[in-house]
Amino acid sequence: GPSPEASDHVTAWLEKHSEGFTHFIDGAFVSPENVEFFEVSDPARATPLGCVAQGTTDDVGKAVDAARRAFRTWSKLPGHTRARYLYAIARHIQKRERFLSVLETMDNGKPIRESRDIDIPLVARHFYHHAGWAELIETEFPGHAPVGVCGQIIPWNFPLLMLAWKIAPALAAGNTIVLKPAEFTPLTALAFAEICREVGLPAGVVNIVTGDGRTGAALVEHPGVDKVAFTGSTEVGRLIRQETAGSGKKLSLELGGKSPFIVFDDADLDGAVEGVVDAIWFNQGQVCCAGSRLLVQEGVADRFHSKLKTRMETLRVGSPLDKSVDVGAIVAPVQLDRIRELVEKGKAEGGTMWQASTPMPENGCFFPPTLFTDVEPSSTVAEVEIFGPVAVSMTFRTPEEAIQLANNTRYGLAASIWTENVNLSLDVAARVKAGVVWVNCTNMFDAGAGFGGYRESGFGREGGREGLYEYLAPVWEKGLAKGQPA
Ligand code: NAD
Repeated sequence: GPSPEASDHVTAWLEKHSEGFTHFIDGAFVSPENVEFFEVSDPARATPLGCVAQGTTDDVGKAVDAARRAFRTWSKLPGHTRARYLYAIARHIQKRERFLSVLETMDNGKPIRESRDIDIPLVARHFYHHAGWAELIETEFPGHAPVGVCGQIIPWNFPLLMLAWKIAPALAAGNTIVLKPAEFTPLTALAFAEICREVGLPAGVVNIVTGDGRTGAALVEHPGVDKVAFTGSTEVGRLIRQETAGSGKKLSLELGGKSPFIVFDDADLDGAVEGVVDAIWFNQGQVCCAGSRLLVQEGVADRFHSKLKTRMETLRVGSPLDKSVDVGAIVAPVQLDRIRELVEKGKAEGGTMWQASTPMPENGCFFPPTLFTDVEPSSTVAEVEIFGPVAVSMTFRTPEEAIQLANNTRYGLAASIWTENVNLSLDVAARVKAGVVWVNCTNMFDAGAGFGGYRESGFGREGGREGLYEYLAPVWEKGLAKGQPA
């Protein structure tokens, strides 16, 4: 497992907060009167980790007020001064890497190997990258000003990484923030609030208000918020778009997906099998850009499925704190139920389901790696985002047909193409409607590359130069932006 030291630190930290975690507003952890708490648990062990405050409209209001006040000075700092804070945050995240990885794994259920080697290093990388941008904002974005107070709402699948994707560019560009983490996984956001205090980030620049969808809705509706950034389900994204319509609030949405993973008959099949493991069993398939729709060229389909099944047998499902585990826990019982229902539906609609015979833990929220073959493109499992460790496979004959199947979705977040033919890969990449297309790889992320979708996967980009535009407004709007002092 992880170093006993890191686990001990997490246990001690949770014990220190056994009375309940409260919001981080205006640079301090505040205890509102008559606060209502809800329980947060470890999905792998089905044990409670602590209690977290349910944010009210009043709490959101206080946080937005604090962010408004802080904006007056924060937005006027020279970029290189803001950069110093971002560098300091990045360094503190690295210093607490072990602690944060264990906490993330306990709260979310993801394998420690992933939180330690992927999530937390990417969080640090994101802050370093945007520290660099903070220094360049004035010269690289002339005629632009920060938008103002940003209301940011994030999901539970990459809790700290989604926080970094939201907070780092917003701070670099000179905005202030009220962020609401997901109700299943708020703990690393609260640990992050401690880091903000440790580095001496001015009070009110980052505020964290915990709670469920009601807290999120209060944040979206607050008239003092100038920009809303949301990652989560398409359903809630639609509600937020309706709520903000006509409000003048700037909006970016990063929603669901049903991303195609296309295997041509000349592909390196062993490489493609490893690709599927990354595409759909990484984070138990709870990934917005998961390669959940396998499209395999007919001639190699049988061979490919057989290789895939052999590999699936070797995946270890179990305690996410165990370093040798490949597939950890599903985030919460309600998500597990949803996966089970969709799998039943897939069987009822005629798909052939196959599951690895790998031993499963007796308790906790676990689901085995699952493969559907002989699936109709119009069936539920081929169309709906399952958000679990379930791959759905279909076959095609020609590249034309592959493209048509790939685009046969209401989403457009990502795609992955496997072939040894460079011309074919470039041609298909250009014609698949997806925000990011990977060739002979999958789930590659970098802070310098804009990430985001088309169609019902949302709009706006996170990361890189494109991502900064989401947090800047042309200067002629300056007088209109509520964030500017009158
Ligand atoms: P969700 O959209 O319900 O929740 C995401 C965030 O939005 C959470 O912080 C939640 O508290 C908040 N929220 C909920 N209702 C809100 C409202 N009315 N106004 C403002 N904020 C609100 O998603 P979920 O329940 O976490 O997951 C459900 C499904 O969403 C998943 O099965 C999956 O399909 C999809 N999902 C996508 C992503 C992604 O990265 N694109 C991430 C998580 C979940």
